[in-house]
This record gives sequence, C-alpha cells and structure tokens, in this order.
Amino acid sequence: MNATVGHRPTWAEINLDNLAENYWSVKRFIGNDIEVMAVVKANGYGHGGIECAKRLESEGANWLAVAIPEEAVQLRLAGVTCSILCLGGFWSGQEMLLLRHDLASVVYSIPMARSLNAAAEAEKKISRIHIKIDTGMGRVGFRWDELDNVIKELKTFRSLEIEGIMTHFAAADDLQENEFTGVQIDRFNAVVETFEKSGISAKFLDLANSPGAIVHERSRGNLVRLGGILYGLGGDVLPDGIDKPELKPVMSIHSQIAQLKVVPQGESLGYSRTFITKRESVIATIPIGYNDGYPRNLSNKGNVIINGELARVVGRVSMDWILVDVSDIKNVKVNDEVVIIGSQHEASILAENLSSQLETISYEITCGISHRVPRVFVGN
Ligand SMILES: *Cc1c(COP(=O)(O)O)cnc(C)c1O
Repeated sequence: MNATVGHRPTWAEINLDNLAENYWSVKRFIGNDIEVMAVVKANGYGHGGIECAKRLESEGANWLAVAIPEEAVQLRLAGVTCSILCLGGFWSGQEMLLLRHDLASVVYSIPMARSLNAAAEAEKKISRIHIKIDTGMGRVGFRWDELDNVIKELKTFRSLEIEGIMTHFAAADDLQENEFTGVQIDRFNAVVETFEKSGISAKFLDLANSPGAIVHERSRGNLVRLGGILYGLGGDVLPDGIDKPELKPVMSIHSQIAQLKVVPQGESLGYSRTFITKRESVIATIPIGYNDGYPRNLSNKGNVIINGELARVVGRVSMDWILVDVSDIKNVKVNDEVVIIGSQHEASILAENLSSQLETISYEITCGISHRVPRVFVGN
C-alpha cells in the first residue's frame, strides 16, 4: 500500500493491532494479576507515542510511562487520561507541570522530593511519587545501601504520596548474569522491607523491564514496566532458548524505487567510491538515507526486499538515498515497492537483523527513524 501520494514515498507503517496483540500476549504470559505499565517514551520507541499510548489505554493499560515530563504533557494534551509516570523524574522548574497535568514522577534525590513537596503544598495538592532505588544499575536512584537518612527525610514531606518503590535491572536480558539479577532482586526486597518497617508501604513495587518480566518470574512484583516487547522487539532483548510470548513487529519501513540504471562492469558507485561493479549491474536508487534513520554503517552491508527477494545495499548510504543492486531480481520496475524493514512474500528483515549487523539493539533502530519519515497507522 502507498498512502503517500503527494509525498516522497518513504514511510513507516505502524500496525496498532499488532501492538494490541503483543500487549495481550504478554499479559497472558505473565499473568493477569500483574499490572502492565506500557512504556511509550521516546515517541513510543519511534512508533508514534501518542497513537500507541491511546491504543494501549483503550486496551486497558492503567499505566503509561515516559522519560521526561515534556513527553507526558504531549500525551495529556492529546487526551490521554490514565496514570502516567515520568521515569526520569523531573527538572527544576517542572514541579507545576507535574501537578497541573496530574503526572506521577520518579524521585531519586532528597532535593527533588523537597521542591516537589513545596510546590504541592503551595497548591494544596498531593503529588504522587515513585522512589527509585539503585540496586546495581549505577544510574539514577537512591543507593540500596544508603537509605537511613533518606527514609527519615522522606517521612517529613506531607504533600507527597509514595505510591511506588522501584528499581531497574542492568542485565536481565543476559542469562550469564542471572546471579547478578538475583542480587538486584534481593537488594530490592530488603529495601522494601526497610521502608515497610519504618511505616512506608507503597502500592506499587516494580523491578522488571521487558527481559525481567519474561525471564525472571521472581522480579514481577505487582507491576512490570514494558517497552520493547510491546513493539514486538524481542529478538535481541529476550535471550534465546527460553519460554516467551508470541510477538509481532509493529513497525515496518517502506519505500519505492526512484530510478533504475544499467551500470557497466568496473564503475564506482556512491560517495568515496567504496563499491566497484564486478559485472554489468542493474542499480536501483531508493529515497531513504541516514537522515531518515537508515544507518550509514549499513553501507555495502544492508539488505532490502524487492519483489519478495533480498537485494544488497551497494556503496555508501548517503543522507537521502541508498543504492541497491537488483541485477538478480526479475521484472524490476521504477516505483516498485521496497521493504526496508518488514516482510514481503517469503522474505523478511527485522529491526533485530539490522541491529545485529550493526552490533546494537533494535530499540536504537526504531528510535532512530526520524521525523522526516511519516508514520502511517493501520488497525483499530
Ligand atoms: C525504558 C525503561 C523500561 C522499559 O524497558 P524495556 O526493555 O523496553 O521493556 C523500564 N524501566 C525503566 C526505568 C526504563 O527506563
């Protein structure tokens, strides 16, 4: 399908039905009594944060999570009404934003708690916070072994409700690190006990990201924070050889052949002349480049699908174009559809395939698809 007449024919198709199916598939897998916080930060990992949030909300997700308050405000302005947690906390001057839009925030320092408490008190409101514990990630959070004064201080803030206590795994996707993940779980459980002994019991206790929730049953608490697997990106963040829910990719990337030409043997193609034709070749030019998020490191390396067959990227990926060798593909014509990520007939290219070629993770691929590529939403 081409929904882009009047535009450059390069687009990302976002299948919201697959998003919903992944949500239910994961819910069935982890058990219905555990709540799911759907993570839609970074524009829904590049899939379109507002549309994904709205679909997940309509499927029954009670919680959404973003990285920064700015992202949460966009969701509120688009009509999202369920609970939203700002995973990265907030920045000085954003306290009123949280209160005005009824946003829950992670808190990882006492000065943060103090300024939010003051703002809430002035507004005669109670602000909901989730206390982030660093159990071994080494990123933001109160260290698990330095909590004595923290708890004392937290108890003085009358306008804050400690709604959640949470931590984040460093290596839940790596079976070799199961022992360390176990240590993180034990540290977290001890922290929760300490809080409870001093009279603070939170409604939500959450540890798990996607690999935590699937691989480490003991880490599910009563809420799990899921991003990647909702978007069908499991191939690289869930380890091989474990039991896992069925997932479907949500994003596919499509384009069209802009030009075809026959190039004699021995000619160079593209910037820096990194590819020399070894034979007379049919070369297709495709309107997608690194400004669209097609990584330049896929030069002479990536593949696309044309007429159900894989075709190799030749020469450098440039800002707005790639070149593809289609010499072995039958009946190729200008305007034929090109699948950059997705499947066509028997052939398929997953975001996980690109990321493994590039030694990164699929999240970086989908997050990197730029705003120049329109998202076309299907399903519902
Ligand atoms: C992004 C994020 C998640 C979601 O991780 P996935 O691997 O995408 O499921 C969970 N918790 C925190 C704190 C995060 O920042």
